[in-house]
Amino acid sequence: MKPAPFAYAKAKSLDHAIELLARPDGDARLLAGGQSLIATLNMRLSAPKLLIDLNGIGGLAGIAVKNGMIEIGALTRHAEAERSADIARHAPLIALAMPHIGHAAIRNRGTLGGSIAFADPAAELPACLLALGGEVEIAGPKGRRTVKSNDFFKGLFETALGPRDVLTAIRVPAATKDTRVGFAEFARRHGDYAMVGLAASAKANGKGLIDVRLAYFGVGNIPLRAKKAEAALAGGNVDDAVKALASDLDPSDDVQATGATKKHLAGVLLRRVAKQLMEPQP
Ligand SMILES: Cc1cc2nc3c(=O)[nH]c(=O)nc-3n(C[C@H](O)[C@H](O)[C@H](O)COP(=O)(O)OP(=O)(O)OC[C@H]3O[C@@H](n4cnc5c(N)ncnc54)[C@H](O)[C@@H]3O)c2cc1C
Repeated sequence: MKPAPFAYAKAKSLDHAIELLARPDGDARLLAGGQSLIATLNMRLSAPKLLIDLNGIGGLAGIAVKNGMIEIGALTRHAEAERSADIARHAPLIALAMPHIGHAAIRNRGTLGGSIAFADPAAELPACLLALGGEVEIAGPKGRRTVKSNDFFKGLFETALGPRDVLTAIRVPAATKDTRVGFAEFARRHGDYAMVGLAASAKANGKGLIDVRLAYFGVGNIPLRAKKAEAALAGGNVDDAVKALASDLDPSDDVQATGATKKHLAGVLLRRVAKQLMEPQP
Protein backbone atom coordinates (compact mmCIF):
# COMPACT_ATOMS: atom_id res chain seq x y z
CA MET A 1 0.00 0.00 0.00
CA LYS A 2 1.01 3.63 -0.47
CA PRO A 3 0.64 6.29 2.24
CA ALA A 4 -2.10 8.91 2.15
CA PRO A 5 -0.81 12.23 0.76
CA PHE A 6 1.16 14.35 3.22
CA ALA A 7 3.20 17.56 3.19
CA TYR A 8 6.89 17.48 4.15
CA ALA A 9 8.97 20.08 5.99
CA LYS A 10 12.62 19.85 6.95
CA ALA A 11 13.10 21.45 10.38
CA LYS A 12 16.08 23.82 10.47
CA SER A 13 16.37 23.81 14.26
CA LEU A 14 14.73 22.40 17.36
CA ASP A 15 12.68 25.60 17.78
CA HIS A 16 11.62 25.36 14.15
CA ALA A 17 10.44 21.76 14.66
CA ILE A 18 8.40 22.80 17.73
CA GLU A 19 6.96 25.73 15.76
CA LEU A 20 5.99 23.44 12.87
CA LEU A 21 4.21 21.09 15.31
CA ALA A 22 1.86 23.96 16.28
CA ARG A 23 -0.74 23.29 13.60
CA PRO A 24 -4.32 24.10 14.57
CA ASP A 25 -5.38 20.54 13.62
CA GLY A 26 -2.37 19.06 15.49
CA ASP A 27 -1.97 16.66 12.59
CA ALA A 28 1.81 16.59 12.22
CA ARG A 29 4.37 13.86 13.01
CA LEU A 30 8.09 14.05 13.55
CA LEU A 31 10.21 11.94 11.22
CA ALA A 32 13.47 10.53 12.61
CA GLY A 33 14.72 7.24 11.09
CA GLY A 34 11.30 6.51 9.59
CA GLN A 35 11.64 2.77 10.34
CA SER A 36 8.37 2.65 12.31
CA LEU A 37 6.60 5.78 11.08
CA ILE A 38 6.82 5.05 7.34
CA ALA A 39 5.52 1.52 7.90
CA THR A 40 2.47 2.88 9.77
CA LEU A 41 1.87 5.40 6.95
CA ASN A 42 2.18 2.75 4.26
CA MET A 43 -0.28 0.52 6.12
CA ARG A 44 -2.55 3.56 6.57
CA LEU A 45 -2.56 3.05 10.32
CA SER A 46 -1.80 6.75 10.47
CA ALA A 47 -2.29 9.56 7.95
CA PRO A 48 -0.77 12.80 9.27
CA LYS A 49 -1.06 15.89 7.06
CA LEU A 50 2.55 16.98 7.70
CA LEU A 51 5.83 15.15 8.31
CA ILE A 52 8.49 17.22 10.06
CA ASP A 53 11.93 15.85 9.31
CA LEU A 54 14.32 16.12 12.27
CA ASN A 55 17.35 14.88 10.34
CA GLY A 56 18.72 18.33 9.43
CA ILE A 57 18.89 19.57 13.01
CA GLY A 58 22.45 19.81 14.32
CA GLY A 59 23.35 18.65 17.82
CA LEU A 60 20.62 16.00 18.18
CA ALA A 61 22.93 13.04 17.58
CA GLY A 62 25.95 11.86 19.53
CA ILE A 63 27.08 10.00 22.63
CA ALA A 64 28.72 11.73 25.59
CA VAL A 65 29.66 10.86 29.17
CA LYS A 66 28.74 13.71 31.56
CA ASN A 67 28.48 13.82 35.36
CA GLY A 68 28.32 10.07 35.82
CA MET A 69 25.65 9.68 33.14
CA ILE A 70 25.88 8.61 29.53
CA GLU A 71 23.83 10.85 27.25
CA ILE A 72 22.65 9.63 23.88
CA GLY A 73 21.22 12.20 21.46
CA ALA A 74 17.79 11.39 20.02
CA LEU A 75 19.02 11.17 16.43
CA THR A 76 21.82 8.73 17.24
CA ARG A 77 21.32 5.73 14.93
CA HIS A 78 21.07 2.26 16.44
CA ALA A 79 24.13 1.27 14.34
CA GLU A 80 26.23 4.06 15.85
CA ALA A 81 25.29 3.00 19.38
CA GLU A 82 25.97 -0.64 18.50
CA ARG A 83 29.54 0.22 17.43
CA SER A 84 30.27 2.77 20.14
CA ALA A 85 33.10 2.02 22.56
CA ASP A 86 31.49 4.47 25.03
CA ILE A 87 28.20 2.54 24.98
CA ALA A 88 30.03 -0.79 25.38
CA ARG A 89 31.91 0.54 28.38
CA HIS A 90 29.42 2.85 30.07
CA ALA A 91 26.04 1.39 29.02
CA PRO A 92 26.71 -2.34 28.52
CA LEU A 93 23.01 -3.24 28.78
CA ILE A 94 22.25 -1.11 25.70
CA ALA A 95 25.19 -2.75 23.91
CA LEU A 96 23.72 -6.19 24.69
CA ALA A 97 20.28 -5.19 23.42
CA MET A 98 21.34 -3.50 20.18
CA PRO A 99 21.90 -6.58 17.97
CA HIS A 100 18.33 -7.72 18.77
CA ILE A 101 16.75 -4.61 17.23
CA GLY A 102 15.53 -5.51 13.75
CA HIS A 103 18.23 -6.07 11.16
CA ALA A 104 21.37 -4.16 10.15
CA ALA A 105 19.53 -2.10 7.50
CA ILE A 106 16.96 -0.99 10.10
CA ARG A 107 19.66 -0.21 12.65
CA ASN A 108 21.52 1.92 10.07
CA ARG A 109 18.58 4.31 9.89
CA GLY A 110 16.49 3.85 13.07
CA THR A 111 17.26 6.18 15.98
CA LEU A 112 17.34 5.69 19.73
CA GLY A 113 15.07 8.70 20.20
CA GLY A 114 12.56 7.30 17.70
CA SER A 115 12.47 3.96 19.47
CA ILE A 116 11.89 5.51 22.91
CA ALA A 117 9.30 7.99 21.57
CA PHE A 118 7.43 5.29 19.64
CA ALA A 119 7.38 3.12 22.79
CA ASP A 120 6.48 -0.17 21.16
CA PRO A 121 5.67 -2.48 24.11
CA ALA A 122 7.78 -5.25 22.55
CA ALA A 123 10.81 -3.03 21.86
CA GLU A 124 14.15 -3.52 23.56
CA LEU A 125 15.28 0.04 24.29
CA PRO A 126 12.32 1.26 26.38
CA ALA A 127 12.90 -1.74 28.69
CA CYS A 128 16.64 -0.98 28.85
CA LEU A 129 15.89 2.62 29.80
CA LEU A 130 13.60 1.41 32.59
CA ALA A 131 16.02 -1.27 33.79
CA LEU A 132 18.78 1.33 34.04
CA GLY A 133 16.61 3.91 35.80
CA GLY A 134 17.36 6.35 32.99
CA GLU A 135 15.68 9.58 31.99
CA VAL A 136 14.41 11.36 28.91
CA GLU A 137 15.18 14.95 27.91
CA ILE A 138 12.31 16.73 26.20
CA ALA A 139 12.03 20.13 24.48
CA GLY A 140 8.60 21.67 24.02
CA PRO A 141 6.85 25.02 23.63
CA LYS A 142 7.38 25.79 27.34
CA GLY A 143 11.09 24.91 27.36
CA ARG A 144 13.03 21.84 28.38
CA ARG A 145 12.20 19.21 30.96
CA THR A 146 13.50 15.85 32.15
CA VAL A 147 11.22 12.86 32.75
CA LYS A 148 12.35 9.76 34.65
CA SER A 149 11.86 6.44 32.86
CA ASN A 150 9.39 5.33 35.59
CA ASP A 151 7.08 8.19 34.57
CA PHE A 152 7.72 8.24 30.84
CA PHE A 153 5.79 5.19 29.55
CA LYS A 154 2.08 5.83 30.08
CA GLY A 155 0.16 3.27 27.99
CA LEU A 156 0.12 1.47 24.67
CA PHE A 157 2.29 3.65 22.36
CA GLU A 158 1.63 6.47 24.83
CA THR A 159 4.34 8.42 26.62
CA ALA A 160 4.87 11.63 28.58
CA LEU A 161 5.59 13.40 25.26
CA GLY A 162 2.96 16.01 24.43
CA PRO A 163 1.81 16.81 20.88
CA ARG A 164 4.36 19.64 20.50
CA ASP A 165 7.28 17.94 22.25
CA VAL A 166 10.53 16.68 20.76
CA LEU A 167 12.56 14.04 22.58
CA THR A 168 16.11 15.38 22.43
CA ALA A 169 18.18 12.82 24.37
CA ILE A 170 18.13 9.93 26.81
CA ARG A 171 20.47 9.57 29.77
CA VAL A 172 21.37 6.52 31.81
CA PRO A 173 23.74 6.21 34.78
CA ALA A 174 27.22 5.25 33.57
CA ALA A 175 28.21 1.73 34.65
CA THR A 176 30.61 1.38 37.58
CA LYS A 177 32.83 -1.55 38.54
CA ASP A 178 29.92 -3.05 40.54
CA THR A 179 27.38 -2.82 37.72
CA ARG A 180 25.89 -6.09 36.47
CA VAL A 181 23.59 -6.29 33.47
CA GLY A 182 21.66 -9.05 31.76
CA PHE A 183 19.57 -9.30 28.62
CA ALA A 184 17.61 -12.06 26.90
CA GLU A 185 14.62 -12.31 24.61
CA PHE A 186 12.54 -14.82 22.69
CA ALA A 187 11.67 -13.86 19.13
CA ARG A 188 10.36 -16.15 16.40
CA ARG A 189 13.23 -15.12 14.14
CA HIS A 190 16.29 -13.07 14.97
CA GLY A 191 15.44 -9.42 14.36
CA ASP A 192 11.69 -9.78 14.95
CA TYR A 193 10.07 -7.93 17.81
CA ALA A 194 10.26 -10.08 20.94
CA MET A 195 7.48 -12.39 22.12
CA VAL A 196 8.90 -11.74 25.59
CA GLY A 197 12.13 -10.03 26.61
CA LEU A 198 13.96 -9.06 29.77
CA ALA A 199 16.48 -6.26 30.36
CA ALA A 200 18.07 -6.21 33.81
CA SER A 201 20.57 -4.35 35.90
CA ALA A 202 21.93 -4.77 39.43
CA LYS A 203 24.91 -3.95 41.59
CA ALA A 204 27.27 -6.61 42.90
CA ASN A 205 27.36 -6.66 46.70
CA GLY A 206 29.89 -9.21 47.91
CA LYS A 207 28.55 -12.51 46.60
CA GLY A 208 25.03 -11.15 46.25
CA LEU A 209 23.15 -8.48 44.35
CA ILE A 210 21.48 -5.22 45.32
CA ASP A 211 19.43 -2.68 43.36
CA VAL A 212 18.05 -5.40 41.10
CA ARG A 213 15.87 -3.97 38.31
CA LEU A 214 14.07 -6.40 36.02
CA ALA A 215 12.27 -4.74 33.10
CA TYR A 216 10.16 -7.06 30.93
CA PHE A 217 8.95 -6.20 27.43
CA GLY A 218 6.31 -7.87 25.28
CA VAL A 219 4.19 -8.74 28.34
CA GLY A 220 2.02 -5.63 28.70
CA ASN A 221 1.22 -2.23 27.21
CA ILE A 222 4.46 -0.73 28.51
CA PRO A 223 7.77 -2.14 29.75
CA LEU A 224 7.10 -3.56 33.21
CA ARG A 225 9.26 -4.04 36.29
CA ALA A 226 8.86 -7.35 38.12
CA LYS A 227 9.29 -5.98 41.62
CA LYS A 228 8.60 -9.09 43.70
CA ALA A 229 10.99 -11.08 41.54
CA GLU A 230 13.58 -8.31 41.96
CA ALA A 231 13.36 -8.65 45.76
CA ALA A 232 13.65 -12.45 45.58
CA LEU A 233 16.66 -12.24 43.29
CA ALA A 234 18.36 -9.72 45.58
CA GLY A 235 17.79 -12.35 48.32
CA GLY A 236 19.72 -14.82 46.16
CA ASN A 237 16.81 -17.16 45.40
CA VAL A 238 16.22 -17.67 41.68
CA ASP A 239 13.42 -20.24 42.17
CA ASP A 240 11.52 -17.80 44.40
CA ALA A 241 12.11 -15.04 41.87
CA VAL A 242 10.60 -17.18 39.09
CA LYS A 243 7.62 -18.03 41.34
CA ALA A 244 7.13 -14.33 42.12
CA LEU A 245 6.54 -13.63 38.42
CA ALA A 246 3.09 -15.19 38.86
CA SER A 247 1.99 -12.06 40.72
CA ASP A 248 4.32 -9.57 38.98
CA LEU A 249 3.15 -10.26 35.43
CA ASP A 250 -0.22 -10.88 33.84
CA PRO A 251 0.40 -10.92 30.09
CA SER A 252 -2.56 -11.05 27.71
CA ASP A 253 -2.77 -13.32 24.70
CA ASP A 254 -1.55 -11.64 21.51
CA VAL A 255 -0.74 -12.57 17.90
CA GLN A 256 2.57 -14.07 19.02
CA ALA A 257 1.60 -16.27 21.98
CA THR A 258 -0.93 -16.91 24.72
CA GLY A 259 -0.54 -15.12 28.03
CA ALA A 260 0.26 -18.46 29.69
CA THR A 261 3.07 -19.14 27.22
CA LYS A 262 4.46 -15.65 27.75
CA LYS A 263 4.42 -16.16 31.52
CA HIS A 264 6.28 -19.43 31.15
CA LEU A 265 8.85 -17.80 28.83
CA ALA A 266 9.27 -14.93 31.30
CA GLY A 267 10.44 -17.48 33.88
CA VAL A 268 12.85 -19.12 31.45
CA LEU A 269 14.33 -15.72 30.60
CA LEU A 270 14.65 -14.85 34.26
CA ARG A 271 16.81 -17.93 34.90
CA ARG A 272 19.08 -16.98 31.98
CA VAL A 273 19.35 -13.36 33.02
CA ALA A 274 19.88 -14.24 36.71
CA LYS A 275 22.89 -16.31 35.64
CA GLN A 276 24.31 -13.33 33.72
CA LEU A 277 23.76 -11.01 36.69
CA MET A 278 25.42 -13.38 39.14
CA GLU A 279 28.58 -13.85 37.13
CA PRO A 280 31.41 -11.29 37.31
CA GLN A 281 31.36 -9.14 34.18
CA PRO A 282 34.27 -7.62 32.27
C1 LIG B 1 11.23 -4.89 9.82
C2 LIG B 1 11.45 -4.09 11.08
C3 LIG B 1 11.80 -4.74 12.25
C4 LIG B 1 12.00 -4.03 13.42
N1 LIG B 1 12.33 -4.71 14.55
C5 LIG B 1 12.49 -4.03 15.70
C6 LIG B 1 12.83 -4.71 16.89
O1 LIG B 1 13.01 -5.94 16.92
N2 LIG B 1 12.94 -3.97 18.02
C7 LIG B 1 12.74 -2.61 18.02
O2 LIG B 1 12.84 -1.99 19.08
N3 LIG B 1 12.44 -1.95 16.92
C8 LIG B 1 12.31 -2.61 15.76
N4 LIG B 1 11.99 -1.92 14.62
C9 LIG B 1 11.77 -0.47 14.72
C10 LIG B 1 13.07 0.34 14.72
O3 LIG B 1 13.80 0.10 15.88
C11 LIG B 1 12.75 1.82 14.63
O4 LIG B 1 13.91 2.43 14.19
C12 LIG B 1 12.32 2.54 15.89
O5 LIG B 1 11.24 1.94 16.52
C13 LIG B 1 11.83 3.95 15.57
O6 LIG B 1 12.91 4.75 15.33
P1 LIG B 1 12.94 5.70 14.07
O7 LIG B 1 14.09 6.61 14.27
O8 LIG B 1 12.92 4.89 12.83
O9 LIG B 1 11.58 6.55 14.28
P2 LIG B 1 10.47 6.99 13.25
O10 LIG B 1 9.92 5.80 12.55
O11 LIG B 1 10.95 8.12 12.41
O12 LIG B 1 9.40 7.56 14.29
C14 LIG B 1 8.66 6.69 15.13
C15 LIG B 1 7.67 7.53 15.97
O13 LIG B 1 8.39 8.27 16.94
C16 LIG B 1 8.19 9.68 16.76
N5 LIG B 1 9.50 10.31 16.97
C17 LIG B 1 10.67 9.97 16.36
N6 LIG B 1 11.68 10.70 16.85
C18 LIG B 1 11.14 11.51 17.78
C19 LIG B 1 11.69 12.50 18.66
N7 LIG B 1 12.99 12.79 18.66
N8 LIG B 1 10.84 13.15 19.50
C20 LIG B 1 9.52 12.86 19.52
N9 LIG B 1 8.95 11.93 18.72
C21 LIG B 1 9.75 11.27 17.86
C22 LIG B 1 7.69 9.83 15.34
O14 LIG B 1 6.88 10.99 15.18
C23 LIG B 1 6.88 8.56 15.16
O15 LIG B 1 5.60 8.69 15.75
C24 LIG B 1 11.82 -2.61 13.43
C25 LIG B 1 11.48 -1.93 12.26
C26 LIG B 1 11.30 -2.66 11.08
C27 LIG B 1 10.93 -1.91 9.83
